[in-house]
Amino acid sequence: MDLVFLNLGFVYLRGVKKVQEIVAQEMFSKADLIRLLEAEGDDRQLLFEAAQAKKLEVVGKKVFFRGLVEFSNICSKDCLYCGIRKSNEKVVRYEASDDEILAACHFAWENHFGSVVLQSGELSSPVFINRVDRLVKSIKRLSNDELGITLSCGEQKPETYQRWFESGAHRYLLRIESSNADLYYKIHPNNPLHSFDKRLECLSSLKECGYQVGTGVMIGLPFQETGHLAEDLLFLKKLDVDMVGMGPYIEHEDTPLYAYRRQLASKQGRFDLALKMIAALRLLMPDINIAAATALQAIDPVGREKALKIGANVIMPNLTPCDFRKEYQLYEDKPCLDEDAELCRNCLEARIEMAGSEIGYGEWGDSKHFKGRTAQN
Ligand code: SAM
Ligand code: SF4
Repeated sequence: MDLVFLNLGFVYLRGVKKVQEIVAQEMFSKADLIRLLEAEGDDRQLLFEAAQAKKLEVVGKKVFFRGLVEFSNICSKDCLYCGIRKSNEKVVRYEASDDEILAACHFAWENHFGSVVLQSGELSSPVFINRVDRLVKSIKRLSNDELGITLSCGEQKPETYQRWFESGAHRYLLRIESSNADLYYKIHPNNPLHSFDKRLECLSSLKECGYQVGTGVMIGLPFQETGHLAEDLLFLKKLDVDMVGMGPYIEHEDTPLYAYRRQLASKQGRFDLALKMIAALRLLMPDINIAAATALQAIDPVGREKALKIGANVIMPNLTPCDFRKEYQLYEDKPCLDEDAELCRNCLEARIEMAGSEIGYGEWGDSKHFKGRTAQN
């Protein structure tokens, strides 16, 4: 902190707080978080070292696998950033069969992944709801109840969330995308199907059902300022979430948001900001699970490993059958398009060890925060 003047024997301090002081705090103001997100050079290094130390102290060096199965790209929504939005007619729509999905989950179980994530576009038809329910039960059966199941199938009614929970899903990912309502409506159509309030209601209904709740934001969006990201971090803290998955926004040419690509920071700049967000979040919420988002790897081939080093502790190897992967292009350069699951696993294992972490094989790797939160109730 800068010393600026002396008065009556007291040293008055003014100016910007030093990063060194901020990273030692337990509570963070919006200004503190902005300072961390804007840290460069030695300050940036200090932030990363503090987050790495906090991660090792609180959640240890284990990284947990969640085998990701992107089982359908059929979506009823039109989020302005997403390559598989309903109005993108260039996408060939697919639905993996139950057998294909269960084979991918069986691979995860045999390889001691601990958990799987079933992700898809958002549908709310009874056929879709019944199908997800059936899949959840089948995954539990095929793995002797051993695989943990995370769902990421968008906004649903409370009774649907409850039903899936009772069938065996125990974590749910639903990103808020941006916690600022104005920014939310710049990246979504402003209509009841894309309501910000509904998103918030879904997050609280997931919590009420008993799920471990994960959310997150995109980083480096057009119209987004550092202050928005600092508020996003405070939002995650206030919502008291158990897991966060957040990564850089990456443009896709067949989406409306592509028109604003010239306003964006460079991909490298967005990548770096995403790393700082992860590090700052680890300091703000030391005991949650933080995923190293796949979008990091689309920019830097070892992007996820860099995230693991400075705060993340979950990784989602892609188990989607290869034939479907090219049709789940949320953004350009999405990685691992033609690597099969076995190759993906071997390559990940080596990379994770190189990043100084160890894989928690066969463990659910539940969020420590969730255990603490539910023990209090
Ligand atoms: N349909 C579900 C939903 O929206 O929650 C799950 C699937 S959706 C494709 C998963 C996540 O992909 C979204 O929450 C969004 O953050 C991310 N995503 C979509 N388009 C993206 C883009 N262009 N860049 C980075 N992430 C993107
Ligand atoms: Fe559909 Fe999810 Fe993409 Fe939105 S982000 S268009 S809900 S798949």
